[in-house]
Amino acid sequence: MIALCPTCWQVAPPAAECCPACGADFAALQEREYTEKLIGALDRPDRKTVIRVARILGARGDERTVSSLVRALRRYSSEPYVAAAIIESLGRLPGAAARTAVRDGLGHESVIVREKATLALALVAASRWRQRGALVPPRFALAIAWQDGLELSSLPAQRC
Ligand SMILES: [Zn+2]
Repeated sequence: MIALCPTCWQVAPPAAECCPACGADFAALQEREYTEKLIGALDRPDRKTVIRVARILGARGDERTVSSLVRALRRYSSEPYVAAAIIESLGRLPGAAARTAVRDGLGHESVIVREKATLALALVAASRWRQRGALVPPRFALAIAWQDGLELSSLPAQRC
């Protein structure tokens, strides 16, 4: 089978990790393509898919996907279960933009979303304490246990 570089379209050895002609990193390109597909799936009409994809994006922890999730959150703001899933995912992502979106969720009209935002912020605080080796206040123990149960090991590891 002939492999073509998706960047310069020169022939590349099938097992090559980088393009010998232009140096493109095939794994990085594949990773970017997969992320773009996930982001595109946030536009799917099927809400179960949107929720599933939001959770996958949260589990992947890529800060570059925050803006797409924030846009989706605005779009699905009137749908509490979708908005809550997106808030939960944003709570797992790093960066100020994700924190702001979660904090804004505290003022959402739906109690489902407000609860999820509260829990997400508690988890962020608890994981910071844990990273510093500090004792975690008992009221966050449940939240941490909940997070540990959500390691999302059942998510698909393969891309095809
Ligand atoms: Zn190339």
